[in-house]
Amino acid sequence: MKLKAVRGTKDIFGDDAVKYDYIVETAKKIFTSYGYSRIITPIFEETSLFKRGIGEGTDIVEKEMYTFLDKGERSVTLRPEGTASIVRSYLEHKVYGKEDSTKYFYHGPMFRYERPQAGRYREFNQIGVEAIGGNSPILDAETISMGYKLLEALGLEELEVQINSVGGNASRVKYRQKLVDFLSDKKDVLCEDCKTRYYKNPLRVLDCKNQNCQDITKDAPNLVDSLSIEENEHYSEVKKYLEVFGVNYSENPRLVRGLDYYSNTVFEIVTNKLGAQGTVLAGGRYDGLLKTIGDKDIPAVGFAAGIERIMLLLGDNVKKETPKVYIAWLGDEVKEYAFKVAETLRKSYINSYIEFDEKSMRAHMKKADKLGINFAVIIGTEEMESGKVLLKNLAEREQESLGVEEVAEKLSK
Ligand code: ATP
Ligand code: MG
Repeated sequence: MKLKAVRGTKDIFGDDAVKYDYIVETAKKIFTSYGYSRIITPIFEETSLFKRGIGEGTDIVEKEMYTFLDKGERSVTLRPEGTASIVRSYLEHKVYGKEDSTKYFYHGPMFRYERPQAGRYREFNQIGVEAIGGNSPILDAETISMGYKLLEALGLEELEVQINSVGGNASRVKYRQKLVDFLSDKKDVLCEDCKTRYYKNPLRVLDCKNQNCQDITKDAPNLVDSLSIEENEHYSEVKKYLEVFGVNYSENPRLVRGLDYYSNTVFEIVTNKLGAQGTVLAGGRYDGLLKTIGDKDIPAVGFAAGIERIMLLLGDNVKKETPKVYIAWLGDEVKEYAFKVAETLRKSYINSYIEFDEKSMRAHMKKADKLGINFAVIIGTEEMESGKVLLKNLAEREQESLGVEEVAEKLSK
């Protein structure tokens, strides 16, 4: 029996693992500068949390959840996204009683039963933020800007920030009717999914990836034309502050997002380099979610970005680190000394490569070259007796006799 990773899952190692860490570390620096702190929630939750939070009638709840009964007959679900869990945690710990506004960031695996393709997996990783307890449109703009700045800091190019406002419930109900009227004589030619959406959740038709459905909805009425005065003002302020923060954006009236909980501002940062998987980062304001989950009127805004999609866009400039120094020891009598030297260098966090078995000088140099290492520490009896080592710059073919601490200092630079 050949064992393989389950369909839609994958291993991340080598250069990819370095990319993963680079993304997370860059994000952490940027998010921290906006006052966000890390939150870690469980990978699985009670199924009802996602049903309620994400909404029946969404793709996720209808067909993408990994739901199972545990041995205690409880229905649990591997989290398909991060927001519902974070809101559950926030409410459970009554964080609202301790601070006016709370800013969390997270990263980790999410699970959705989807058709695997490049940039679409069944287990994938997201990095995201949630700012809970603020209703200012400046916060919306700041959140969008922060997401954009993350992708920019990672060196991603040709990204487009798309925004829209989906208003509040009342406006959406009004719009829903207009859209249903518009679609009523076209529903038979929609894709199978959209035929269902037409009855269950017609706004989702705007979000369909099927080209034919997109052509059909091209002339559909715009949601922004159904917004109230306050919602319009909110949207204008978001746009104003995006300009203040120097974020170029375009308005996409068809942007409705796949989840039920959004209100007012929604946004996506897209690329045309990943085919149908073009959305790298997506989010919005979800003022109604805390009411739905915990009966609290607390507004919030957030986003999530697909780490694998960012990794696909990162290119080759992030690579696994090669060892900095090759420790070449010559003769069994210096072996223990050589390993002590390695320990000393590693104490200064210098990536040191050392062979367990004896080798000739020629073989050592060949190996160092193969590994792409620029420095060698050479240890023979003479070095051991004087308590020193020979540090050799392999590219420039220069060498000097130094104490181990001196080598550590030199290579740390
Ligand atoms: P899509 O329209 O691509 O299915 P979505 O609207 O379902 O995305 P969100 O739930 O908003 O996506 O998730 C935010 C981000 O997470 C997406 O923009 C994408 O980068 C990433 N993402 C979502 N689903 C997957 C997946 N199955 N595999 C890899 N990344 C994903
Ligand atoms: Mg999806």
